[in-house]
Amino acid sequence: MAFKNIICPVCGASCDDIQVELRGSKIVTKNACKMGNAKFWEIFSPHRIREPLLKESGSFCTALWDEAVDRAAMILVKAKRPLIFMGSETSCEAMQVGLHLAEFLGAIADSNSTVCHGPTAMGIQEAGRVGATAGQSKSRSDLVVYWGSNPLESMPRHMSRYGVYPRGYWTRRGRFDRTVITVDPRKSITARNSDLHIQLKPNTDYELLSALLTLLHGKKPHPSVEKVTGVSISEMEEMLERMLGCNFGAIYVGLGIASSFGKHRNAEAALNLVKELNNHTKFVIGALRGHCNVAGFNQIASYLYGYPFGLDFARGYPRYNPGEYTAVDVLREQDVDAALIVSADLVSHFPAACARYLAELPVACIDIAPCPTTMISQVVLPGVIDAMECDGTFYRLDDVPVYFQPFTGSPFSFTDSNEDTMKQIFQKVKEMKR
Ligand code: SF4
Repeated sequence: MAFKNIICPVCGASCDDIQVELRGSKIVTKNACKMGNAKFWEIFSPHRIREPLLKESGSFCTALWDEAVDRAAMILVKAKRPLIFMGSETSCEAMQVGLHLAEFLGAIADSNSTVCHGPTAMGIQEAGRVGATAGQSKSRSDLVVYWGSNPLESMPRHMSRYGVYPRGYWTRRGRFDRTVITVDPRKSITARNSDLHIQLKPNTDYELLSALLTLLHGKKPHPSVEKVTGVSISEMEEMLERMLGCNFGAIYVGLGIASSFGKHRNAEAALNLVKELNNHTKFVIGALRGHCNVAGFNQIASYLYGYPFGLDFARGYPRYNPGEYTAVDVLREQDVDAALIVSADLVSHFPAACARYLAELPVACIDIAPCPTTMISQVVLPGVIDAMECDGTFYRLDDVPVYFQPFTGSPFSFTDSNEDTMKQIFQKVKEMKR
């Protein structure tokens, strides 16, 4: 059977034109990039977790669903300060249940943006953002700046679907109507395909952004900026001239900005530069979000509780202080005593000290395949793959909500979706608390 307009649940591009054909236990996709295609194959992966697992005396044994949900709820109820980590490869609906559960328990709630575009979200809180939908940029932008990002490898269809190659209403000749600038210390494949590559020294984004703002104000930056950034003032002038000469410019920032020295101050400087460029021409800025629904947690948490990530409900109301209540920090400080981890492999991606401490805690997780985090967990609940096996909502990289519908059903009789699993855990927690 063939299905059209399926949403890809891998990266923030959330491509909505995937065609899927199921041929017995094989799956054929069209339009998906390599990353997307690999994800669709997970439906039939022999590694898929198909039964609930409980750890007894150090080794896993299969368990009944109710037993596993009971144990996951018990871990949370017994904890004084649990961490609920909602990974970004799950729907906004599941995230919403996770946030409500965290509020009910007085827990910490966090998501992947804590280790990716969290600083960009903080920069937006400081400076505001002039943004646009991906469709607007596709139709209008005649200049694209990839700053600290390498979409040809991290978001393979961004350039072809939204940023550079598509023919828009005002960019009828596609790539020929666009100028591409890449700001990156590396000669990445994106940089090699750009019209101008600004090869700054690592960790000097703030200085370069400040120098561009100085030039924009009609002044010359101090000559030392050339030595600091490795970029000559004439190159900066050339870049700024191109930016001022366009009709509609779009900057896409990546983790090169959010993770280098300066962090949220880099994002704030970039956002301020874009604001000021709007005195001369139309300019927008957006983040290339790596995971499919990493923007979703920011949206849902902000909408429900006013803060985009790293929320602490210990006092019964939400508190927000990145560096204190964020997942890496509470694990490093050994400030939580249990964890529920949904669709995320924290042990592989967090610093070693955090992973080591996590391994000492009672942990329940929901995941589709074995990974280091499932290995350290006491309870493993099989995950349902969003956008393939259940419906729901993702937020795309431009913060546009995208409703997805499945092309097949949940492979389990005991749960319809990760949202359903979260609801069952929440229900059990409420019963136990009573
Ligand atoms: S670019 Fe991203 S969303 Fe689009 S097909 Fe590739 S992995 Fe999926």
